[in-house]
Amino acid sequence: MSDSEQHADDAQPVWPPTRVLPDILYCGVCTLPIEYCEFAGTVSKCQKWLRNKDQALFAKTWPDIDLSQKLEETTIDEGMTKEQKKAEAKAAQEAKKKANQRVVIKRIERSKRKCVIEVSGLELFGVDLKKAAKLFATKFATGASVTKNPQGTDDIVVQGDVQDDIYDLVVETWEQVPEEQIELTEGKKK
Ligand SMILES: [Zn+2]
Repeated sequence: MSDSEQHADDAQPVWPPTRVLPDILYCGVCTLPIEYCEFAGTVSKCQKWLRNKDQALFAKTWPDIDLSQKLEETTIDEGMTKEQKKAEAKAAQEAKKKANQRVVIKRIERSKRKCVIEVSGLELFGVDLKKAAKLFATKFATGASVTKNPQGTDDIVVQGDVQDDIYDLVVETWEQVPEEQIELTEGKKK
């Protein structure tokens, strides 16, 4: 019996891959054992704390982190991870892009008494064009269809002199389309 116990001890690898540190060090930021910092959601602060406390232990815990590089990053943005910075930059970009998007409601005169309204850009605001065309047709008792424009995107073409009515309906129906991003224009017959 004692022989096999002895044997089991010998077989114990010195540093198994999922070893538990002899003395568990609890993180001063997230309070978890430092091995679990990566799950804490404050990982960049945790890393900074550990680096200041024990460089060697830091290198052992985060072997993939280039020390000099990480030092620069964390001092520039307190506690912001690379991912958070990326997400923030992306959100800012999206917001800028969104602000430049336009819904264009264009009145096109086909003859003295006939005109059509071409609505473009609604899809940029997540509007289903087919449903929108149907809504216009129902609301104004007229014809409305989705057609490809020369640029290769879809427009809604509505029969009749209903530019202002469409403007009102768009504002009222789709809250996500800001009024200042709706353009009313006039075009020539095509
Ligand atoms: Zn931590």
